[in-house]
Amino acid sequence: MNLHNIMEKIEHSRLKVNAHHIVQLVAVSKYSNSNQIKELYKEGQRAFGENKVQDLEEKSNELNELPIEWHFLGNLQKNKINKLIELSPSLVQSLSSFDLALELQKRLEAKNTTIDALLQINSAKEATKGGVQPENAKDTYQKIKENCPNINIQGVMTIGAHSDDKKIIKNSFETTFKIYENLKSSGALICSMGMSSDFELAIQCGSNMVRLGSILFKDN
Ligand SMILES: *Cc1c(COP(=O)(O)O)cnc(C)c1O
Repeated sequence: MNLHNIMEKIEHSRLKVNAHHIVQLVAVSKYSNSNQIKELYKEGQRAFGENKVQDLEEKSNELNELPIEWHFLGNLQKNKINKLIELSPSLVQSLSSFDLALELQKRLEAKNTTIDALLQINSAKEATKGGVQPENAKDTYQKIKENCPNINIQGVMTIGAHSDDKKIIKNSFETTFKIYENLKSSGALICSMGMSSDFELAIQCGSNMVRLGSILFKDN
């Protein structure tokens, strides 16, 4: 589906929430090459997301001349932290534990730099997914704020439940949105949820950032 049609769908969903609800679109380019990213850039898209540090490095180097806002969305291995910091992404959406935050803090401090990040929440409690358990999310968020001055924590991210049952998916979004609302007083601004198969539902549940890959990049 093309960018224009997707924007219309986002527009339709966000207006159901309210006229002032703004939703950012991150184009997840992990299945795509630099030429496809360039095509979408020409149509006006500026934020792109990758889930592997290696791919982020390759594509951001290849597209170095374009002012793209890069997001990192994948599982972050500790031995890739330094490389990720060097690439200085706009937003790391997949900060998945306090332990990882401490490690990231250490390296940021050593390099005398900062990074913007979201706390990933395992809202459906799936063993295959990273992120903190919903009941620990608030605590972990506060601990990161207090102990990691070089991490600007901006909100939360979740991947919707892996299910065909809309109610179960909705439940995972509602769980995350509640946590986000609870963290607003601690400065949370971003509630990143919604992928190709469930972004309209996610927006209805309060998402203000969707991450779309396959629907944007496949058979345009
Ligand atoms: C791959 C990925 C997406 C995009 O998934 P699609 O279903 O292709 O839209 C979004 N978020 C994360 C964390 C991903 O890994």
